[in-house]
Amino acid sequence: MSRPIVNEEECIGCGICADSCPQGVLDVEDGVAKVVNKDACIACNTCLEECPTGAITEVIED
Ligand code: SF4
Ligand code: SF4
Repeated sequence: MSRPIVNEEECIGCGICADSCPQGVLDVEDGVAKVVNKDACIACNTCLEECPTGAITEVIED
């Protein structure tokens, strides 16, 4: 399984990652992107590529 790693210091809560994820893995809670559906991540890297601040640093296997 995979999941994106969010650097909360860099996240501006714009929601682009959540909107662009085809699997509904991410959501913005309290102004910060959170992984809310970890098991659905397919490691497509879309969230990482779309984040405007580089807050998603990597998508890891775990
Ligand atoms: S890697 Fe793809 S499936 Fe996984 S959270 Fe990012 S956009 Fe969603
Ligand atoms: S796209 Fe980047 S800055 Fe925007 S909510 Fe997602 S992680 Fe945060």
